[in-house]
Amino acid sequence: MFQKILIANRGEIAIRVARTCRELGIATVAVYSEADLSSPHLFAADEAVCIGPAQASQSYLNAQALISAAQQTGAQAIHPGYGFLSENSAFAQLVREAGLTFIGPSSESLAAVGNKIFARQTVTKLGVPVVPALEHPSRDPALLREQVQALGYPVLIKAASGGGGKGMRIVRQEKELLEAAAAAEREAVSAFAEGTIYIERYIERPRHIEVQILGDQHGTLVHLGERECSIQRRYQKILEETPSPAVSPQLRDAMTTAALTVAKAAGYYNAGTVEFILDDQGRFYFLEVNARLQVEHPITEWITGLDLVREQIRIAAGERLGFAQNDIQRRGHAFECRVYAEDPARGFLPSPGTVLAWNAPTGPGIRVDAGVTAQTVVSVYYDPLIAKLSTWGQDREQARRRMESALRQCAVLGPTTNLPFLLDLVTHPAFIAGDTHTGFLTEHLSQWQPTSSAGHDLEAALTIAITHARKSRVTTATSVGGQPVTASPWQQLGGWRMGQ
Ligand code: ADP
Repeated sequence: MFQKILIANRGEIAIRVARTCRELGIATVAVYSEADLSSPHLFAADEAVCIGPAQASQSYLNAQALISAAQQTGAQAIHPGYGFLSENSAFAQLVREAGLTFIGPSSESLAAVGNKIFARQTVTKLGVPVVPALEHPSRDPALLREQVQALGYPVLIKAASGGGGKGMRIVRQEKELLEAAAAAEREAVSAFAEGTIYIERYIERPRHIEVQILGDQHGTLVHLGERECSIQRRYQKILEETPSPAVSPQLRDAMTTAALTVAKAAGYYNAGTVEFILDDQGRFYFLEVNARLQVEHPITEWITGLDLVREQIRIAAGERLGFAQNDIQRRGHAFECRVYAEDPARGFLPSPGTVLAWNAPTGPGIRVDAGVTAQTVVSVYYDPLIAKLSTWGQDREQARRRMESALRQCAVLGPTTNLPFLLDLVTHPAFIAGDTHTGFLTEHLSQWQPTSSAGHDLEAALTIAITHARKSRVTTATSVGGQPVTASPWQQLGGWRMGQ
């Protein structure tokens, strides 16, 4: 087992990884950019190394700086978290060449699943269904029009090296085709330095269903059930749940078998996710493999009782999984909401700034993975994710009510957040009914505006409390019976009550 691990990430996921390391008795090294001097992830680790300026390209994406930081501090392994370099096969290779362990799949597996066209071709050979597509669309406009006509509108243009929904464009009519293809290509070049595109038939009102897999380096491969991530905005997940209300035991068998077939063929080990879309006829199609820990992994941890980061570390160290498919029990239901510093009333514009106060929800079946505390600066340089709230219940409705309660308790003072939007989402009748699909937010909440909610009351109450506490600090301490009394908030805030 490793004695020291470097965490090549920031925010909530860096803290998440550090927690498991501490539990396992492994020392940790955090890395940070110049913009992250006040970030809580620095304090979650035992040591911290500055790896460069604010721009991710010069810090969190700087492979050489990360490897040097690991070597300087004597770390034996690197956990990449998600995003940044987590799925970069060249980085995994460099880590290995430096004599360190990359906590993830082999660089060969990363390369094999990293290109979506290649991955599609591989899984087709295995008999796993894929969405009908033009894998090599013609460069000739007239021919391209013909090809897409034959495929059938609407279509979705995608980037071969895509991720995070970048470079994707829906085309409903032929007259939009050429412009959309050019735009998708431009976006792909700027995001992935590589502009190859392909064109899939667009499936209307699908659900996004993905299967979590876990494999060791000795040939044991298991699945941990599915997650549904249909609640998306611009192809980005906002809320996830497990199990999916749309997946029957038979469908689960078929999808998890397909996922394991794909993973096995890629020689996959460590944690990974095989993504599918499910159409309204109950047919599923392979989308891609995410070769890393997913943002939404806590909901799988809730229902399986496993710590996925612990499993990742044990697998990377060469240990055996030590359990088989039949040993995995899934219990109850779990949800996750992603709390962002953004303004849903103004097109989800990022809302950076300093978090003045932060109230994390608590209670039975509530888990918080936060990347902030009071005084943390939500920077313009990175993803504005503040925290992930996840809840567990014996059934879907109990888990949902706990999420409702968690969202009402949660308060962030400073940046505008999507908390009131999330609350309206989890209390929407169609959501309560489990009637979800990837167009859910467009269909039900596209005109969303904030109404008065409990979250706002709590934020107002916090504002008053903070202002009052600041004022109180300057009042002189009094004395009782000759003994000086230090400023107690209970005395100082005598006129203030929490409640309606
Ligand atoms: P990325 O890697 O950029 O996240 P994915 O291929 O994983 O892209 O797709 C992201 C989302 O885009 C899916 O969850 C789904 O909502 C939507 N999507 C992808 N392919 C299709 C398709 N053929 N038809 C309809 N929606 C799709």
